[in-house]
Amino acid sequence: MPVEYDLHSHSLASDGTLSPAALVARAAAAGVEVLALTDHDTTAGVAEARAAAMEQGIELVAGVEISVTWRRQTVHIVGLGVDPDDARLQSGLAGLCEFRAWRAEEIGRRLEKAGIADAWAGARRHARGVLISRTHFAHFLVEAGHAKSVRDVFKRYLVANRPGHVSGQWAALEDAVAWIRGAGGQAVVAHPARYRLSGTRLRQLLGEFRECGGVALEVVSGSHSTEEMHRMAGLARSLGLLASRGSDYHGPENPWIELGRVPALPTGCVPVWSDWPQGLPLVVNQ
Ligand code: AMP
Ligand code: MN
Ligand code: MN
Ligand code: MN
Repeated sequence: MPVEYDLHSHSLASDGTLSPAALVARAAAAGVEVLALTDHDTTAGVAEARAAAMEQGIELVAGVEISVTWRRQTVHIVGLGVDPDDARLQSGLAGLCEFRAWRAEEIGRRLEKAGIADAWAGARRHARGVLISRTHFAHFLVEAGHAKSVRDVFKRYLVANRPGHVSGQWAALEDAVAWIRGAGGQAVVAHPARYRLSGTRLRQLLGEFRECGGVALEVVSGSHSTEEMHRMAGLARSLGLLASRGSDYHGPENPWIELGRVPALPTGCVPVWSDWPQGLPLVVNQ
């Protein structure tokens, strides 16, 4: 029987809505055997998730999803099998969280000018981990009746040319990959089809990523269509990148994404886990 891998998920430590322990329990119930917790810019949920995984009898891969600015575009780089105690990784992530704190205040000020009061305080109530994300603003704006759904909030308030937009100043691609590798992990380009890059630019991104020491592409993602998955599988094969698989689960409020409920890797892809002993990354620090 093939092992069931879900290598991309979020908890309350970033912008997910389940605690790390509840996330792991749900993954186990859904038949996931190896789960990576990949919160945005933090590993704060890993210890709790690891303890829960021991109880549930599944494997937990310590991960992170690092926010990167590449040629003025936000790109997400997942790290799998990182040592959460690595000092350089943690100082890099701390810098990103500081930017997040400043950006949140700025989003609050801009929304205030647009006539929406108390958004910063409201978003902070939803942010129960160490960092604050646009998702927390979205939850507040829906709750306060300014929009009908999270998707609607993003479209109307939080993206470029909208009143609550503040551009990202995230990590450099080479730094994010270096932090991940320095912490013993494998770097993966998350949901590559989401960036709406032309074929040429996507190849440029992946070329630079490989030169920095990145090794894998998230071919199967909860946010990819079947056609996008096959296109990304072809790219991974032609560029010699390993392939990853993850749902990008954020919580039960998103009923169209469930833990482990994504297609199997297309044939011809070399899985990112192919050289993990017994399903786990080589350098897993338990
Ligand atoms: P941040 O990293 O704080 O800028 O927030 C990015 C997060 O917002 C992503 O990881 C998604 O979880 C969420 N997000 C981004 N765009 C959308 C959208 N259009 N609809 C719903 N959620 C979104
Ligand atoms: Mn998110
Ligand atoms: Mn992402
Ligand atoms: Mn994600």
